[in-house]
Amino acid sequence: MASRFDVIVVGSGSAGSTAAIAAARAGASVLLLEKLPFLGGVSTAVLDTFYGFYTPVSIAKKVVGGIGDDVVAGLRGLGPVVERPNTYRAGTRITYLAEHLKLVWEELVEEAGAKILLHAFVQDATVVDGRIVDLVVATKAGLLSVEGSIVIDASGDADVCHHAGFRYELAGEISPAQTLTTTFRMTNVDVSRRQTITKDELHGLMADARADFDLPRLEGSDHITPIGDMTATIMTRVEHVQKRNGRVVNASDPEVLTAAEIAGRRQAFEYARFLIDRVPGYEEASLVALSTQIGVRETRRVFGDYRVTREDVTTARQFDDQIGLCGAPIEDHGVGTNTTWEYLPEGQAVGIPLRSLVVADSSNTLVAGRCFSATHDAHASIRSMAQCMAMGQAAGVLAAMASQSGAVRSVDAAAVRAQLRANGAVLELG
Ligand SMILES: Cc1cc2nc3c(=O)[nH]c(=O)nc-3n(C[C@H](O)[C@H](O)[C@H](O)COP(=O)(O)OP(=O)(O)OC[C@H]3O[C@@H](n4cnc5c(N)ncnc54)[C@H](O)[C@@H]3O)c2cc1C
Repeated sequence: MASRFDVIVVGSGSAGSTAAIAAARAGASVLLLEKLPFLGGVSTAVLDTFYGFYTPVSIAKKVVGGIGDDVVAGLRGLGPVVERPNTYRAGTRITYLAEHLKLVWEELVEEAGAKILLHAFVQDATVVDGRIVDLVVATKAGLLSVEGSIVIDASGDADVCHHAGFRYELAGEISPAQTLTTTFRMTNVDVSRRQTITKDELHGLMADARADFDLPRLEGSDHITPIGDMTATIMTRVEHVQKRNGRVVNASDPEVLTAAEIAGRRQAFEYARFLIDRVPGYEEASLVALSTQIGVRETRRVFGDYRVTREDVTTARQFDDQIGLCGAPIEDHGVGTNTTWEYLPEGQAVGIPLRSLVVADSSNTLVAGRCFSATHDAHASIRSMAQCMAMGQAAGVLAAMASQSGAVRSVDAAAVRAQLRANGAVLELG
């Protein structure tokens, strides 16, 4: 395998896979590094539903297109996809089968011409004058060294920026951190019977069951899937922020993450026991699958050339350099039993500025996805998978354009925006 590439993307979640596709389609040589044995990150290892393609209003407006549309088309080509209407005013959601999505990501990345390396865990970065000159990757064959003119950190946890010594905020240091969730699927569910009770009635049953079951979250959800008698859940809640020797640690710490994985699985079985015992339609159901890993909402958020703030989101601010849009509410899964939602002005969407993807401390590093440059609140809105895909597409286009000079700030945002528009991305509300 070559050891030099125009663009190296670390992490293949919704952001990283999209970034690799965009950069390769733009003609760059691209290496996509992923520590798991498949692509997709949270989109395939934890979840089954894209949020964020539409605004959460009565007449939904589409706010993400481009490569995100190719992903959904790929899923439709493989089998059933369910469009679920607006609940929690979160916008129309697209529910798919995660095993199908693994194949779709691989096909799109390979068709674009990017090289994929699985079971490849980035462990270190060498930095000279703010420039990443190589990455160290742990593989079955030992340590590999790879060089990229531009590096995109799409690891979700900002591992590259951490190893490079670039600044980031650790979730829980300044603001509260979002909790973690192990998801699970139930089969042999009588879905028609389940639909005889509402979401609020389900939450009432959870509250009533507290004496007999250990349920840390009382308003978790279950939803239908493309398989008739199978439901999927987002119910468990694991806290992860701790103080150790006076310092905050969170799920980016291996011991905290290990304890969270074990706690999440135990909680999943407890919620399944509750569903079978108390919820109509689940009487004969079984827990058939746990998420491959616990779902981590936020750990490290990198400092970029711009940090998106709560006020930007609540006022639906527009930016000259915006590369995408988000209409999703600030959805905060904090500690305690409830989740809070705070909405943007009806029918509006906040812009995602290109500068929030440019790592402040580096001349050749970009970030995309859930570790982008934002405060806790802004992140709680702009973290859905459709927005991660919009960020990934923009980072990929910018990286390909900057790969000759090796300097991410050498490219004009207007050129990136023009390319994105030509490729179907949505940059402004119509
Ligand atoms: C429980 C939960 C429920 C959610 N519900 C929804 C929902 O219903 N719909 C929605 O749209 N969004 C939802 N979100 C938010 C959304 O799923 C995430 O914000 C989004 O998927 C993040 O995508 P990403 O590409 O930034 O990161 P990830 O999907 O986390 O991808 C990061 C990738 O990098 C890899 N990686 C990490 N470190 C390294 C390394 N050092 N070397 C190599 N590879 C590495 C990881 O294995 C992973 O594949 C939810 C999130 C959680 C946790």
